[in-house]
Amino acid sequence: MSLQKTLFGKLLLLTLAMVILLGSLVSVVLYHSGLDSAQAVIRNKNLAAAHHIRGYVQPLRSVVQYLAAKDFVREAMDTDYRDESRLLELFRVLQDANPTIHFIFAAYEDGRLVINDYVPPPGFDPRVRPWYEAGVRAGPALSGGIPYREIKSDEWLVSFSQVLLDEDGGLRGVVAIDALVDAVMEVIGARDPSFTTARNLVLDHEGRILFHAQDGLIGTRFAGWDSLAPMVGEGSGQRFLEVDQRTWMVQFIHEEPLNWTVVTMVEKREVLLPIMWRILQSVAVVLCIALLLSAFMARNLSAHIVGPLRLLEQRVRDVVDGKALGQTRKSVPLAELKNEIGTISQAIEAVTEHALYHKNQELQRNNALLERLSQTDSMTGLMNRRKMNEQLEQEYSRVCRYQGTFVLMLFDIDHFKQINDTHGHHVGDLVIQELAALVRGMVRATDSVARWGGEEFLILFPETDQAAAMVIAEKIRAAIAAHRFPVPRPVTVSIGICQHRPDTNLQELLIAADKRLYQAKSGGRNRICVGDSE
Ligand code: GH3
Ligand code: MG
Ligand code: MG
Repeated sequence: MSLQKTLFGKLLLLTLAMVILLGSLVSVVLYHSGLDSAQAVIRNKNLAAAHHIRGYVQPLRSVVQYLAAKDFVREAMDTDYRDESRLLELFRVLQDANPTIHFIFAAYEDGRLVINDYVPPPGFDPRVRPWYEAGVRAGPALSGGIPYREIKSDEWLVSFSQVLLDEDGGLRGVVAIDALVDAVMEVIGARDPSFTTARNLVLDHEGRILFHAQDGLIGTRFAGWDSLAPMVGEGSGQRFLEVDQRTWMVQFIHEEPLNWTVVTMVEKREVLLPIMWRILQSVAVVLCIALLLSAFMARNLSAHIVGPLRLLEQRVRDVVDGKALGQTRKSVPLAELKNEIGTISQAIEAVTEHALYHKNQELQRNNALLERLSQTDSMTGLMNRRKMNEQLEQEYSRVCRYQGTFVLMLFDIDHFKQINDTHGHHVGDLVIQELAALVRGMVRATDSVARWGGEEFLILFPETDQAAAMVIAEKIRAAIAAHRFPVPRPVTVSIGICQHRPDTNLQELLIAADKRLYQAKSGGRNRICVGDSE
């Protein structure tokens, strides 16, 4: 796997791990803090509702207790309602002082109802009304508050009543105060913009609904009471409860003196949805940040490590493949990188350049050697026949163009076979070598001397005419004849000379020289024969 794939794979894994880790952490923290704050809000709503109820109901209860203790209230029936106007006056004063009192009244065992501004319907018997019966049931104590519908208006009222007893404990009647459920609910039942499903309700000690925004539910048993009842003794608490096939977060507080339970409930969905939404947003933000960070890191890795490494790899490959450094791609100036890769790159380039320089030098030396070998006769060090042919072509075209002239001198060792036969090939070789050196030393540097065959030599004299060539030829012939070769007899050569004419081609010239050489041989050897191509 390539470095890039490995690095980016690991980076992707790191990003995923980061998102999972941070996402879970953020989710847990947000869930708990969100739930805590929602619970706090609901607890406060519940407390506020409980305070309100207490503040609303406590004065009413005190008034009932006060009236039940008043002699002229208890004894009104026995005194034949002598003080009824005083009683009514007291009711009015109390009602004016406490506007939360909806009705304030007393009913007596003889069926008389004492009340301000209320005309009971025909056949009305107070003794069978719920508040009367509750008062009687509660004995000498205050009744806990019972919900009932007012017989004429059909409004829901919650009544607090207490029996009026004579000194012997005989029942005389009941005094009662009614609170209007709607008036109470106007305060504790107000809709909350933060929780639209939030509602407050008040239950009596049997789980019966006393106060509720929905009239239809007043007086019925609260659906979650069975789950709530065992906890009511704890004073207050919070639970998730199933009510009407929906799950609610229920906060309750038990009002000890009233023996009521004030309940605040919010649908769980409404509590959890915003929390979940916030978690989703935060996870999305975490994801975005993680992706941005990884993209940034990937860019940096690519720019500073992977990119330069790949370029370096390419350059090394190019060098290995024999491409010169100048031909390698240089889109990123590697050597300019001020990091380890830049240093490595510089070192590799320096080493490669050094190695290349030396290889080049060696190659040039070998080439020069090869060229020399390909042009030289190895035994004598003279030009070989191939090189001489090149020289002849060059000289021929030069004189054709500039109308100069040149002379060819072909010579062959006389009776060389005898030297070989008599003294051996080795000695023959030595004679050839010595003779070659001798001749080379007698001509100018501009003259070309070649070993043309076994013991046959050809000299090209540029810019030379036949007469001048004759002089040199004679000198050479004489020098060879006079030279002491490593054989106990003189060595001589026969020479054929031929000058270039404008109408003669190279081949004809060579044949002519050969002819003159043949003539020299047949003429007795150790001599020079001259003439043109005719
Ligand atoms: P002439 O030229 O005077 O007619 O007689 P020759 O005996 O020299 O006859 P020819 O030129 O035909 O023979 C040349 C001989 O030279 C034949 C060959 O064996 C010998 N030879 C050619 N090349 C070499 C060489 O490199 N070394 C030696 N030792 N002998 C050579
Ligand atoms: Mg020969
Ligand atoms: Mg010969």
